[in-house]
Amino acid sequence: MVKMGSAFNLGKLFGIQFRLHYTWFIIFVLVTASLSWQYFPFAYPDWGQLLYWVLGIVTSLLFFASVVTHELAHSLVARFYGIPVKSITLFIFGGMAQLTREAAHPGAELRMAAAGPACSLVIGGLFYLLWLFTQGVVEPIAALAFWLAQINVVLAVFNLIPGFPLDGGRVFRSLLWRFTGNYKRSTQIAVWVGQGVGYLFMLLGILIAFLRPFGLDWFSGLWLVFIGWFLENAPSSSYRQAQWRDALHGFSASQVMTSGYPGVPPNITVNQLVYGYLFAGGHPFFMVVEEGRLEGILTLDSIKAVPRQSWDVTQVKHIMTPAGKFNVAYPDQDALNILEQMEEKDINQMPVVSGGRVIGLITRDNLIRFLQLRSELGV
Ligand SMILES: [Zn+2]
Repeated sequence: MVKMGSAFNLGKLFGIQFRLHYTWFIIFVLVTASLSWQYFPFAYPDWGQLLYWVLGIVTSLLFFASVVTHELAHSLVARFYGIPVKSITLFIFGGMAQLTREAAHPGAELRMAAAGPACSLVIGGLFYLLWLFTQGVVEPIAALAFWLAQINVVLAVFNLIPGFPLDGGRVFRSLLWRFTGNYKRSTQIAVWVGQGVGYLFMLLGILIAFLRPFGLDWFSGLWLVFIGWFLENAPSSSYRQAQWRDALHGFSASQVMTSGYPGVPPNITVNQLVYGYLFAGGHPFFMVVEEGRLEGILTLDSIKAVPRQSWDVTQVKHIMTPAGKFNVAYPDQDALNILEQMEEKDINQMPVVSGGRVIGLITRDNLIRFLQLRSELGV
């Protein structure tokens, strides 16, 4: 699986965090170099070096802007269907939008998946128009527009390959899902097809690298092997999400919560909390409870924010996050829905409340342990 850890933030657009993975620089340099060194000099031999490089860099940047727009199209449709988008990351194979959950019905998934390639086709069409109008008038602009028109069409077509996790794989799954009504089975089939396509790409890549047909070089072959490897590995996380969904289906909060939760009274001091509860119990999270009523929650961060010398005089009720300012779960609430909320808001625990009284606690660890136990028992 491709790890998206080493990426830095570019900023926010439409409330979505944009990130740049370090592998993006590799592909940016490769695209720019191949444009400035090969493509433009070969097509327009009488231009100057400076023009090749300026044009190469601008074309390359516009290409990545096209990729971002493609991901943005997915994200905006996802948001329309109530699926929040955490971030869009640009990396070596293009862009990836991180959705917090999967679509709730096949129609939503179909539109979400198709939005990207459709957007790329539109961008391709716009660059084609630009090429029509600038051709023979402003030749460098026309050259740039022509390459971008082509690459956007390639992007749309490549993404429509019916293997998970490509957009085409999602379209394929949504259709299977619609006709079979079985989400897990449809995902499994789309994952198999995706892995099959991955192996096919690797095989094709190896053949191209050794035989070099149609003037293709070993590098194109290697590239195809890389893409195949990515396709073969990437589906696992989507599949895991599908399995979770299946395993949690039909369970309510009260069935997956723990009742041995760490509760503390509101009037103890931070000192008493740290030495009497934190060190003794080892939980990094507390619920502040008075006569069964949930007054607030305390995390390690809120404790750390209090300077050492004030521990003796500060009561926990003054540093807790008061009730109403955090998410709580209800006993009948769907367990899957709770896990999705936790993923979405990046929280690790949720008190379960009934009629204002705390009856238990759900932690992400608990949920994951629950899933593991179920799969080990095969029930
Ligand atoms: Zn896409």
